[in-house]
Amino acid sequence: QKSPSSDALSSVYQTAVARNAGEPEFHQAMHEVLESIAPALDEHPEFLESGILERIVEPERQVMFRVPWTDDRNRVQVNRGFRVQFNSALGPYKGGLRFHPTVNLSIIKFLGFEQIFKNALTAQGIGGAKGGSDFDPHGKSDAEIMRFCQSFMNELYRHLGEHTDVPAGDIGVGAREIGYLFGQYRKVTNRHESGMFTGKGTGWGGAEVRTEATGYGAVFFTEEMFATRNASIDGKTAVVSGSGNVAIYAIEKVQQLGGKALTASDSSGYIVDEAGIDLDLLKQIKEVERLRISSYAERRTSARFVSGGSVWDVPGQIALPSATQNELSLRDAKALISNGVEAVAEGANMPCLPDAVHAFQQAGVLFGPGKAANAGGVATSALEMSQNASRQRWNFSDSEDRLHNIMRGVHSAAFEAADRYGRPGDYVVGANTAAFVKVADAMLA
Ligand code: GLU
Repeated sequence: QKSPSSDALSSVYQTAVARNAGEPEFHQAMHEVLESIAPALDEHPEFLESGILERIVEPERQVMFRVPWTDDRNRVQVNRGFRVQFNSALGPYKGGLRFHPTVNLSIIKFLGFEQIFKNALTAQGIGGAKGGSDFDPHGKSDAEIMRFCQSFMNELYRHLGEHTDVPAGDIGVGAREIGYLFGQYRKVTNRHESGMFTGKGTGWGGAEVRTEATGYGAVFFTEEMFATRNASIDGKTAVVSGSGNVAIYAIEKVQQLGGKALTASDSSGYIVDEAGIDLDLLKQIKEVERLRISSYAERRTSARFVSGGSVWDVPGQIALPSATQNELSLRDAKALISNGVEAVAEGANMPCLPDAVHAFQQAGVLFGPGKAANAGGVATSALEMSQNASRQRWNFSDSEDRLHNIMRGVHSAAFEAADRYGRPGDYVVGANTAAFVKVADAMLA
């Protein structure tokens, strides 16, 4: 049955696509939100009348800038920097920085758009933004990364501030990069403004559990989804993609809750460990030695490395795509479903293609979309901002309890909105409508 708002929604979408030509990831992210919020709009004609839709798909501000730096051979290199400040209705702009050769305006806009709704779901008073660069940290020396970060911040600093815009990490930006970026901001502005960056080292203003938060949060969300069917993670197997901090700490929490994580991956392929992932070894390889994932299989007899291929061919009752966008196709979804997957939670942003999501939902698989399931990272960033503002430090277990409570809140907001708008169990509709109404209300006010 067609909703009265659907014509308005598709016309806003068509106009936005025409206006943002050549940005397929941004179109995909807009489409996913707009196609699911019709029931909320039917109840709130004031949003349509006041042009909230036209406003919400247009970033409040976006900057693109040149980042020149010298490599170790004294040659000048030039990269492109981005920051898309999408929406500040609920609080200062908030969202990570991604350094990866695939970064372009479309990728940053899709991530910034998702961030608006994700951040709203956390209920922590943060707006949505994203930034980054097409710089590739892979294979660069420490000194090159430092010079790049300093040059990047020489431009970006003027757009940031603890009450203006607060970046954090994302792919390719971890504690090392944040140190260089924060250090340069401090030098250029002459301000030790702790709350202008999150994901800082715990020795200089960083929050406990921030590193673990996205992965832990995705597993807490999965546990909440299981609870609606009187089930739990205990005793179940999990297939995980990626080997960054989202994947590593998702694996850690699965194991703490009695599950068995079998896989991890990077762009060269994946490993399967039938005995369950050895976390100390995985951390040693990825966090300390910064090697390819294949090294894991070389050091452990129960594991094998599969070059290329799809990690989703490995059977498991839980799937946690935690690598990058559009990494799980319809073919992969069908493989997981025929192998008996029961729950999928997106640790990465938009890792499942739209037809894969529909396939999971049609098969009755619990599906947690990234803007809900991976909100624990940015939620813990908001906890870091609170601690910085009040000059307090919360310990690990206190911080983890707070994260756990926030994830319960994210789950119930999405679950209840899905019920309320007539799509029980549909966390995509639930997350999008709950978040949209919250942001739209604030914009209107
Ligand atoms: N990059 C993370 C995300 O996608 C976290 C952003 C933050 O902590 O600001 O949500």
